[in-house]
Amino acid sequence: MTTLDLDKSIQYIKGVGPKRYKTLTRLGIYTPRDLLYYFPRAYQDRSQVVNISELVEGDTTMVQGKVTRVKSSTTRGWKSIFEISVTDDTGTLMVKWFNQPYLKEKFQVDDLVLLYGRVSIYKEKRQMTNPDHEFITEDGGPGESMGIVPVYALTEYMNQSTFRKLMTTVVYESLSLIEEYFPESIIQKQNLIPAVDALRIIHFPDSLDGLDEAKRRLKYEEFFLFESAMALQKREIKEVTGYQFFIDQKVESHIFNLFPFTLTKSQELVIREVHRDMCSQKPMNRLLQGDVGSGKTVVAVYALLAAIANGVQSAFMAPTELLAEQHYRTLNRYLANADIRVLLLKGGLKARERRESLEQIKSGEVDLVIGTHALIQKDVHFNRLGLIVIDEQHKFGVMQRTRLRHKGHHPHPDVLVMTATPIPRSLSLTVFGDLDVSTIDELPPGRIPVKTYGVTAGKQADAYGFIRKEVEKGRQAYVVYPLVEESEKLDLKAATEEAKLLQERVFPGLRVGLLHGQLKSDMKDFIMSDFIHHRFDILVSTIVIEVGIDVPNATIMAIEHAERFGLAQLHQLRGRVGRGSHQSYCLLFGKPKSEGARRRLKTMIATNDGFRIAEEDLRIRGPGEFFGTRQHGIPEFKIGDIIQDHVILKLAREDAFAFVNERVKSETSENRLLMKKIMENFKDKFDLIHTG
Ligand code: ADP
Ligand code: MG
Repeated sequence: MTTLDLDKSIQYIKGVGPKRYKTLTRLGIYTPRDLLYYFPRAYQDRSQVVNISELVEGDTTMVQGKVTRVKSSTTRGWKSIFEISVTDDTGTLMVKWFNQPYLKEKFQVDDLVLLYGRVSIYKEKRQMTNPDHEFITEDGGPGESMGIVPVYALTEYMNQSTFRKLMTTVVYESLSLIEEYFPESIIQKQNLIPAVDALRIIHFPDSLDGLDEAKRRLKYEEFFLFESAMALQKREIKEVTGYQFFIDQKVESHIFNLFPFTLTKSQELVIREVHRDMCSQKPMNRLLQGDVGSGKTVVAVYALLAAIANGVQSAFMAPTELLAEQHYRTLNRYLANADIRVLLLKGGLKARERRESLEQIKSGEVDLVIGTHALIQKDVHFNRLGLIVIDEQHKFGVMQRTRLRHKGHHPHPDVLVMTATPIPRSLSLTVFGDLDVSTIDELPPGRIPVKTYGVTAGKQADAYGFIRKEVEKGRQAYVVYPLVEESEKLDLKAATEEAKLLQERVFPGLRVGLLHGQLKSDMKDFIMSDFIHHRFDILVSTIVIEVGIDVPNATIMAIEHAERFGLAQLHQLRGRVGRGSHQSYCLLFGKPKSEGARRRLKTMIATNDGFRIAEEDLRIRGPGEFFGTRQHGIPEFKIGDIIQDHVILKLAREDAFAFVNERVKSETSENRLLMKKIMENFKDKFDLIHTG
């Protein structure tokens, strides 16, 4: 037996030729260590042999018996069928394999076999189709395929039994090589089983019960390594020098006087946190969470102006042009009498206009630049960028956030990112694990919770009648249509036609405007501005108004085909109303066709709480889809599940941060291995985060 090196190419393992090697690399397996960490996707319980007479239709089970009949045939010349009958003391089972003609060479009458497969009943006979099989001998003891058998996620070029054999070889040959890299203190504290046991059991468990401890150990390990990468990244950010702003009472009261209202307790607290960050030598790296309508913009304005008061430029980035324009309007309103130069860097500018804008940014002529992701394009250079605020961060990727920070600015600008998609605690730890988090957890006073109703087919006329009544009282309404990207044109047509229909048939005499993504940005701005100034009563729109838009006089959000929107979108859309002192309503038109859609609408009607909605959304969709995995830099864990295993995640995070902060600088024999592992892992994760 050759001695195996866990980190040498897996080509050197016997049984791995060039072809198999290629297949393995497709699965991301390059070394024996990679293979050990390629965990089963499921297990089959083959520990019990069931009597043929006791087989139940639909069960997947193990049977042992003697072959009593063998027959092969073809149907219509293209499909081969190989059939056998297997008998034990209690009965007979029919077994069929399709398109595996070579099997007829293998089976003979009187062979003793183990079969594992799904039981079906055909013409009152029990049968299995395409089961796994193993030949056994009378006195040979239990078959190899008995017990708890791992099932792996494989490609068509690799079958389960070949992979299992390879795994068996590697697991047993590497038992003496697997190091324990957690120090004794962590093993004790978390009561973990040794690495070597965990790896053996995860692949070849003796019982299903024993699996749990192996899984817990490996999940903890996976989370720990990830979180230590987060801890290191956070340290790294804290180690560079940023601006140390000076913000005194005078500057503050100046800024506060611009706001036409008193700040809520929450806003004040968060502003204190931002103040502390800005006045420190370290760059701010903070996430501000707050439900739709909680008043995050005020915090952004505070930070932007405080930075400008210190003689640097600041940038405010929004995910849509509409929102960027709104911020531009808001800031111009606040700054009407101040000597601050604000620039809106729009998309779709003429070359000359854009060049002029860029020149002003570069020369430092403008103090505050507002824009979309156009702000992070290559040709945008700031003179002395001191602060960046990113609104609705969930609409950007982690990548973009990091790109802005890493634009080669010195000193490093402060960064404040804001999000209204409430991120469940479990997720924010992983995605934003390198950020400090502030939360606005109350709405401005006087807000009346939005009332939400489902509108069934028969009630549409009533609902429209209700909208008209509200409009007659002086309120405004949004009517939103879904827009599916693949058929944007079609939907656009639908929205345009609907707007016409609504105008002519449903709301004659009312002023109906239409807004959608395909309009030129000036046109969008124009229509939005008309709505803001109440020159329209009703705005028919696509999802373009989803985030950020703030028109307090609008009190109705009617969503057509609500079943087609995701929960987060519905919540965001509803957040467009309930922003003033009048009772607001959200009307969900449409009929849910799937269980998921039913649950989404039910959740919307049941609660206004963004955090509850986000948790539910996550439950319905799973973490991957919740954020659209890659774009948001959500790491894909092999065995840990950030939702189900959040308790382990939390423990691992605490331990990892403590470990990194206390020990990374003092290497001892006890922690050397773990530190090496963390650094290796950090490099990978860092790449992932920084290059998307
Ligand atoms: P979001 O957190 O969704 O970005 P905004 O910043 O757009 O919320 O604020 C929503 C609305 O609430 C705006 O019209 C804003 O002027 C208003 N607002 C913000 N803070 C307060 C406050 N403390 N008191 C009263 N109104 C406020
Ligand atoms: Mg906002």
